[in-house]
Amino acid sequence: MLVIENAVVVTVDAAGSEYHGGHVVVDGERIAAVGAGPAPEGVSGERVDAGGCLVTPGLVNTHHHLYQWATRGWATDATLFEWLVTLYPVWGRLDAQITRSAAAAGLARLALTGCTTVADHHYVFPRDGGDQMAALVDAVRAVGVRAHLVRGSMDRGASDGGLPPDHLVEGTDAALAGTEEAIDTWHDPTPGAELRVAVGPCSPFTVSDELMTGAAELARGRGVRLHTHLAETLDEQERCRAEYGRDPVAHAEALGWLGEDVWLAHTVHVSPAEVRELGATGTGSAHCPTSNGRLGTGIAPVRDLLDAGVPVGLGVDGAASNESGGLGEQLHQAVLQARQRGGPRALAPREALRMATADGARCLGRQDELGSLEPGKLADLVVWATDGLPHAGIDDPVAALVLGAVPEVRLSLVGGRRVVTDGALRTADAAALAADLRAASRRLEGTRP
Ligand SMILES: [Zn+2]
Repeated sequence: MLVIENAVVVTVDAAGSEYHGGHVVVDGERIAAVGAGPAPEGVSGERVDAGGCLVTPGLVNTHHHLYQWATRGWATDATLFEWLVTLYPVWGRLDAQITRSAAAAGLARLALTGCTTVADHHYVFPRDGGDQMAALVDAVRAVGVRAHLVRGSMDRGASDGGLPPDHLVEGTDAALAGTEEAIDTWHDPTPGAELRVAVGPCSPFTVSDELMTGAAELARGRGVRLHTHLAETLDEQERCRAEYGRDPVAHAEALGWLGEDVWLAHTVHVSPAEVRELGATGTGSAHCPTSNGRLGTGIAPVRDLLDAGVPVGLGVDGAASNESGGLGEQLHQAVLQARQRGGPRALAPREALRMATADGARCLGRQDELGSLEPGKLADLVVWATDGLPHAGIDDPVAALVLGAVPEVRLSLVGGRRVVTDGALRTADAAALAADLRAASRRLEGTRP
């Protein structure tokens, strides 16, 4: 048992319950009690005095590409398509060691910024690149966060009108077989799972219709979730209209890619009718404000999506378009971007926190187990130090977390296990991860144009 007391506890439950001077009791991998005042009498266990701290559910990152942690700082002033075309040949040289080093370092950075669950979308499988999925799993286990690995795919190279070079795509059948193998090997459907697999053809401009429909059929046959990029840029919209005669959301619908088991990265360029369609079908959205800003793709209509009932989670996106790679700061960016679009009441700090926790868990289909602090849920939580110089004097700790600097993580738990304590990673040596990352990045430098 672990007893966290004397904290401001923001549960993000359906009622928005908050307790000043409250407690959270953790029993094994689950939460046993949450409430006001000290822990109930008779509860024994290790005590954590969280005075001056804010306790929230662990943050859920709904969209990432961990391998990109090794290719930060490339094509810094490019459009999405220019950036992709620059980076595809570099990513073509990924091997399992580079992916492992990049993923471990990226996961460490996520953990240190309050992330306890990450959805990683991996869609690059070079022919001589070794076992990419095993490399990701190895990194996940080393750092100790919960992961939903999206087995991505691309089957439309340049000679088929796609964006990636031919040598970087798989055949349609091979992509589907590789995806099924990932489910067979790594997907854990049991309650409390630390590792799940989802199905994720990359995007409309890198994937054939056959792969999209085949992937949806595979995912639904196996009871796993579906994820892809959609409506990220105006270039994509134009290309989709020219090629298919419809907008990206209508294209996704025609291919069977809307529904409660689907979450889509970005949904920046969506019309009011498309927003309603996403809401009516229960399709989720992974909002990635920093990446959208870095690539100048536009500002997603987050207020409209939330009002339509869309589960909107937050995502870092790959570190090649978000060199910072932290999840905590996405709370801040989400509020700023929503307000630039819709004024100061467009998104409240507590709504941003709900997106990063409960809504993110809905995107991943984990709302019964993750995303709020309630008895019976998994003990994935963060104790944020909001008593130091960056936040002292801010009365509302949620405003301090969302509008201020990302606080130091005093403690983070994943399934009751300590991952971060006093701002330091407990599970792995951060300096060694950085050294590995430097070596991995250097091996890719030779391909810089
Ligand atoms: Zn992405």
